[in-house]
Parts: sequence; structure tokens; C-alpha cells
Amino acid sequence: MEVLVIGAGLGGLFCGALLSKEGYRVTVLEKNAGIGGGLQNFVRKGEMYETGMHVAGGFHENGSLKRICCYLGIMDRLDIRFSDLMSSLTYLDTDRTFNIPSGRDRFTAYLISLFPHEEENIKRYVDALFRLSEEDRLFYMKSGQNSFFDHSEEFTMPADKFIASYIDSPELRSLLAFVNPLYAGVAGHSPAYLHAMISVMFIDKPCCFVKGSSQLADALASVITEAGGSVITSSAVTRTVVRNRRVESVYDSNGKEYKADVYISAIHPCTLLDTIEGRAFTPFYKKRLRNIPSTVSAFKVYAKLKKGHLPYAEHPVNIIDSKKNTWKMSRYRLEDWPHGISCFLAPSSDGKWATHITILSLMDWKEVSRWKNTRTGNRGDEYEIWKRSRMEKVIEMAEKAFPNLRDSIEDCFAASPLTFRDHLGTKEGSIYGYFKDSENLIYSQLSIRTKIENLLLTGQNVNMHGMGGVAMTAIETAEILVGKDVIVNKINLYENIQTEANLP
Ligand SMILES: Cc1cc2nc3c(=O)[nH]c(=O)nc-3n(C[C@H](O)[C@H](O)[C@H](O)COP(=O)(O)OP(=O)(O)OC[C@H]3O[C@@H](n4cnc5c(N)ncnc54)[C@H](O)[C@@H]3O)c2cc1C
Repeated sequence: MEVLVIGAGLGGLFCGALLSKEGYRVTVLEKNAGIGGGLQNFVRKGEMYETGMHVAGGFHENGSLKRICCYLGIMDRLDIRFSDLMSSLTYLDTDRTFNIPSGRDRFTAYLISLFPHEEENIKRYVDALFRLSEEDRLFYMKSGQNSFFDHSEEFTMPADKFIASYIDSPELRSLLAFVNPLYAGVAGHSPAYLHAMISVMFIDKPCCFVKGSSQLADALASVITEAGGSVITSSAVTRTVVRNRRVESVYDSNGKEYKADVYISAIHPCTLLDTIEGRAFTPFYKKRLRNIPSTVSAFKVYAKLKKGHLPYAEHPVNIIDSKKNTWKMSRYRLEDWPHGISCFLAPSSDGKWATHITILSLMDWKEVSRWKNTRTGNRGDEYEIWKRSRMEKVIEMAEKAFPNLRDSIEDCFAASPLTFRDHLGTKEGSIYGYFKDSENLIYSQLSIRTKIENLLLTGQNVNMHGMGGVAMTAIETAEILVGKDVIVNKINLYENIQTEANLP
């Protein structure tokens, strides 16, 4: 059977690789010159930078990502570095820094050492995080049904209220929400399951890709091509022809027509809608897809560093202006930006020094909407001045953790929400896809199947974003074709055979 996947990001490539392994002939079309989407790397002045993904979870022993990648036969192609610290976190108003260790026991013990009077609360809270993560069967590669309606009340309650239901101290509540930038959390709205699953992935063991996250994209693409499929770049899908509730073919930006039995869209649903002609979807469905709010975008500063100036740190370095603002990083007053930043360093070959630093801060689309009709390289002087002023603010904040940063910079540039919109093809440059609101979760919950019989959806907008969320959805999408639990059972079977083979 022929499958055509639109978009070679994490979702499209994972889904394509899983189906290739099942014997499907897969073609992936990617609009950019390089594959990967949020995993893509790029080179500037001899230094290689990452577009999006900096930290990942799930690659530790028994982690879901490791299990999927072993099953796909690509684990040994990935150069991964684990971190003993989940993060360091500095509050500027109190000048306090917390070095938060990974590992469930070490994480719990560290928090108890800081807040001994909350010992029982902390233990109950950590238990609750893991309990919520277990409610998602694919998180631990379990087979069986997982209906949205089976979940506990805690699963869908707002993350900030979930934390507060266990923890008394405002300082500890803020500290526990330090993963907030990884899901752009909003108080009263972002659901506890996002907070729990992302926390657990990083408590278990965070890691980064030593030579950039695009090595995962390349490895997944090789599974597709080695099975006889193809991954075609500079090929933006511009037209999707639908007749009698079936996609007949798609056309790309080069005017080439592609036909398949099944089509999988791994791009933003609004971008897909723009390619579909006529009345394939009801006006109600289209309106809904267009009206689901998106998560916030980001402003990112990339700085190449002079050799031997800044020592390398393998963990993310988070800085936040005040514990009061933990939940205000994506919804803020423009004059207060940024409330927080996350810094990621890249190691030199001997691992001692940082070769570059990437600094990410969440940013509202409103800040750049006046330049929405411009394209990269042609946005005008006013935009460049605005961008410089924002870079300045970010570097100023980063200097609190890296005092000699400014003197260490050799080359510096930035990406704004406009860059993310144009590079990823996402609505308003949203970095994590549709916003999941605990007040109305069903609204932002998309079904993998669509009313068009041979069109399926995958990627971060369907379920959950990030390494774990997108990989889990890719399995669910692929299983619509190959059968429920077929892939999960094979992943588990593969693992059992490997374990037995290694027994003395
Ligand atoms: C700045 C940033 C930082 C992040 N940090 C982390 C992190 O540290 N850890 C983590 O787990 N997650 C992180 N994420 C989230 C993670 O990168 C995403 O959730 C994930 O990569 C999304 O994968 P996807 O395949 O759904 O979408 P994408 O990666 O956006 O892929 C979609 C692909 O489709 C292509 N496309 C779009 N339109 C068309 C078209 N018409 N025709 C053909 N192709 C098209 C795009 O070019 C892109 O390659 C980050 C994201 C960003 C942007």
C-alpha cells in the first residue's frame, strides 16, 4: 500500500518510519530544503544550531523513545548525552539558584532537603505525577484502550491547581512549575496531564542530542528510504484534490502530482485546510480548526562563542524574574517581557567549553503581527531595530547566570515568531501547536481520522507536542492502518527477545 505523508517533521518522519517497517511504501513531502521541522539544524559561520528541540526525555533505559528507536533499529545511530541535572533555575528577585537533579529519588530527596516541612506533600505530589503519566497507556508502551473519558479528574484539572492541591509553600509551587516553558503553561488553563507527563519525562532522565536533533530526523528518514520509500525536500504541498470523500492526489509547489492510497497530514491543520479545495470538510469543522487557539511562539537568540570562554553545562539553565511570574511567561504585558529565559549550551569536542548558546523565551505573536506580510531577509529596518532591542533584553537577562557572556560572543542573531511561522508553517509561529485548555479540552482534541476516508492526521496538533507526545501520536496514526496495538505489541515483543538474548 502506498502512503503519502505531508511534512517531514518529527510526526511525519516517525509515522513514515513505523509504516515503512510494516511494509508500506512511504513518500514524505517536505516544504523546506532540509527535513526535521522542529528537529532541523542549520549552520551559520561554521557553527551548527538547532531550530527547536533542545532537551528530550524518554531515551533512558526502558524509556518509551528508546524502546521505539531500538525497535526501528536506529538507537545506535543517535549520539545522546544524558544530564544528571534536570535544570538549574535562578530567581532574579531573591537571587536564589536551585540545581534540580534528575531521577525520581534524587528529585524527591532534593525537594525535601529544601522544604523539610513539606516532606509528605512532596512525596504525594511526586507519586501523583507518576500516577497521571501512567494514565496514558502509550507513555509506557502498554496495549489496550485509552479513552479520553477514562481519565481521573486530576488528569484534566489545571496544572497550577494540581500543584497547589498537594503543596502549601508558594515558593515550592513555583519551583515545581519550572518545566512550564516546555509546554507554555497558563494558570487555570494548561492541563495537569501535560505538566505531569513532561515533568516525568525529565525527572526520569533528560538528554540532548550531541550533534543536534537533526540526527534523529536523518535516522528516521533512513528507515523510510532503506525500505524503498522516499523523502522529498523543497516540495510544499499546495493543493489537495478531494473527490467523493477521498483524496485523489496532492500537488506540490513544483507542480508535481503525487498519488497514494492513504494520505497523512503531519502539518498544522490550518495549513492543510488552505490546500484543500471545495467542500471536502464541513464549514463547522473548518471553523473549529481555524478557531482553536494556538500555543505561544518564541524569540530565540543564537550566539556563537569565542573558544575557551564559557564552560559547558549539559543541563538547561533557566532564569526567571520572580516566582510570582512562573505562570505569566506566555501571557504577559508587553512591557514586562521577558519574565523568563531558558539557555542551552553546545559542547566543544572535548566537552569542556561551550561553542554556542541558544536562549529561548516565549513570545506572543502580537509583538510581531505588524510585520506579518513580510518574509525573511525583507522585513524592513523597523523590524531589525525591534529585533536588536529584544536580543539586548534577552542577553541582559542571560548575563545574570553567565556574567562574562557579552565578552564571549563572537556572532549573534535571533529568530522571532515570524521566523517560526515561515520555517515551520505554523499558525502565528506557535511552537507547540494547538493550545490544550483544561476548561475545554474536547475543543482542542483532534481525531486522527477525518471525514475524508483516506486522510489521517498526526503531529503535535493532534494530541501532545514534544518528543514524547508526537512519537506517541505517530504510533496511534500508524495503528489506524496496521491495526490496534500491532506496533505496540511488536515493540514489546522486540524488547523481550532482546532481553532474553542477553541473558547468560
Ligand atoms: C523553538 C522550539 C523549541 C522546542 N523545544 C523543545 C524541547 O526542548 N523539547 C521537546 O520535546 N520539544 C520541543 N519543541 C517542540 C517540538 O519540537 C515539536 O513538538 C515537534 O518537533 C513537532 O513535530 P511535528 O512533526 O508535529 O511538527 P513540525 O516539526 O513543525 O513539522 C512539520 C513539518 O511540516 C513541514 N510543512 C509545513 N507545511 C508544509 C506543506 N504545505 N507541505 C510540506 N511540508 C510542510 C514543515 O516545514 C515541517 O518540517 C520545541 C519547538 C520549538 C519550535
